[in-house]
Amino acid sequence: MPNPKDPVDKKIILSGMRPTGKLHLGHWTGALENWVALQNDGGYSNFHLIADYHALTTNLDTSHIYEYSIDMVLDWLAAGIDPEHSPVFRQSQVKEHTELHLIFSMLITKSRLERNPTLKEQVRDLDLGPISYGYLGYPVLQAADILLYKGEIVPVGDDQLSHIEITREIARDFNRQYGNVFPEPEPKLTKFARLPGLDGKKMSKSLNNAILLSDSPEDVKKKMKKAVTDPQKIRKGDPGRPDVCLVFTYHKKFNAAEEQEIRRGCESGQLGCVDCKMRAAERINEFLDPFRERRKHYEGKPEEVKKILKNGEEHARTVAQRTMNEVHQTMKIG
Ligand code: SF4
Repeated sequence: MPNPKDPVDKKIILSGMRPTGKLHLGHWTGALENWVALQNDGGYSNFHLIADYHALTTNLDTSHIYEYSIDMVLDWLAAGIDPEHSPVFRQSQVKEHTELHLIFSMLITKSRLERNPTLKEQVRDLDLGPISYGYLGYPVLQAADILLYKGEIVPVGDDQLSHIEITREIARDFNRQYGNVFPEPEPKLTKFARLPGLDGKKMSKSLNNAILLSDSPEDVKKKMKKAVTDPQKIRKGDPGRPDVCLVFTYHKKFNAAEEQEIRRGCESGQLGCVDCKMRAAERINEFLDPFRERRKHYEGKPEEVKKILKNGEEHARTVAQRTMNEVHQTMKIG
């Protein structure tokens, strides 16, 4: 169901994240930036899912899951998600996710899930060892998350394309077996998908190489001082290679107006790395200032945040129940 405040012809978008606590600039460039742009475009109806059941696939410890969910919602709101138009809700609070997951799990084979390339990569890269039944099936839960809201567009990184393909297959198989209920959603790739961490590796809180959306201006400066640069540029005066320098990647993203000037300064040697890093830190801080202001507003009003979640969950439940009624009727059960 589109938001009652929106025109009915808007395309439905479902996007979500696992509740991992405070978000960083990598989350912004990889997902949130796109979410906010799609919301502000006005042509879409967005649903934002806190994937707390998905989090169990790799971590059974739930002791911080609520706190992490709230921290993440604060960052979503700080980044510009407008809950009036884009409901935010926890997967665990809309029971229909698990019901549709169960039905969908009958429509896909174990071998199809084992062929999922993302799964193979994660098992190898994360050294997961034997995986659970739930982990193998998480693309099926993801299909339920998307199709419960009849999502037509899913903003994703390229590593998630194989999952969207599974969602499309499940939608097709359900429609063929029982009748036409679900759309076949299309992936929407983000433009600037990956921003490396300060050490050049994937940005991650656990690797201690991330600039958080909630970092103070001093934190950003301190962290930026540690950023890796072109190893051939040892001191001011040495010509540098911006295209192999991580700090230049940050300039390109957050300081596009000065990109060419920084390039010239680096290549000629006139610009030193310390100054260059501090200029990047300043631009990042300017970019984050409105986030900080909005976060402060919501941090001071925990009841308002709880209400936002409650309203989002009610909205999501209404849509989910409507879809499940249609599913039951089409399947002639219930
Ligand atoms: S001057 Fe800037 S772009 Fe050039 S190597 Fe140093 S930090 Fe990187």
